[in-house]
Amino acid sequence: MVKAEGVHKSFGSAHILKGIDLEVAPREVFCLIGPSGSGKSTFLRCINHLEKISAGRLSVDGELVGYRQKGDKLYELKEREVALKRRDIGMVFQRFNLFPHMRAVENVMEAPMQVKGESRAVARERALKLLDRVGLGDRAEHYPSQLSGGQQQRVAIARALAMEPKLMLFDEPTSALDPELVGDVLDVMRGLAEDGMTMIVVTHEMGFAREVGDALVFMDDGRVVESGHPRDVLGNPRHERTKSFLSKVL
Ligand code: ADP
Ligand code: MG
Repeated sequence: MVKAEGVHKSFGSAHILKGIDLEVAPREVFCLIGPSGSGKSTFLRCINHLEKISAGRLSVDGELVGYRQKGDKLYELKEREVALKRRDIGMVFQRFNLFPHMRAVENVMEAPMQVKGESRAVARERALKLLDRVGLGDRAEHYPSQLSGGQQQRVAIARALAMEPKLMLFDEPTSALDPELVGDVLDVMRGLAEDGMTMIVVTHEMGFAREVGDALVFMDDGRVVESGHPRDVLGNPRHERTKSFLSKVL
């Protein structure tokens, strides 16, 4: 579903991603861990067309990110084409960024109506189902300010799912939550995984990575240091940097 080959990213003279190679299979839960500043968010942003890679190849579902191939020539995608691609990728951030003036259900309906031109009735029906799925069937008419952080994050997940993405990116989805609210959000993500969603999850929740993850990559300083099955990498890290990072977060 995602393939990165020698992906580099620089911001001016700051070399942030230094040759990332990895592959995410369909239906896989792919966990990405590493210290702050190692480039995890930047990598997710490259997958989601929010940043352009500086070198290497990055593809989603067999298509190069940002380019269209015709014969052996590559054409840069136009803004409109990028917008179409981005519909297929859901992203959930540390901060939930819900529209504050819209009720939960309206937040979930918004993109399908605006982007896909879906009717209000159809969008609403799906939104209610999705809110039910994330355990918020009884909060549909609440405004974000009337919801806890964990509930807001679950609305944000429902909102991403409303576009029926083929890939979901989670960037530290529970890092801004009070500890007692983390479990509900992780449960929703676990349910998604069981339903076969392909997910890349940047997280410090090692329990989640171990129990739900199919693959795990430890990144440091813009490079993949170590990768493998979460049980192996977390239980038996081979590199000093991985060991030292895990000793701080476990
Ligand atoms: P992580 O998510 O692993 O904490 P980030 O991908 O957010 O790491 O950031 C990696 C590095 O890239 C940081 O040093 C950050 O300051 C830098 N960076 C991220 N975005 C930009 C940008 N738009 N311009 C310049 N530097 C950036
Ligand atoms: Mg980050």
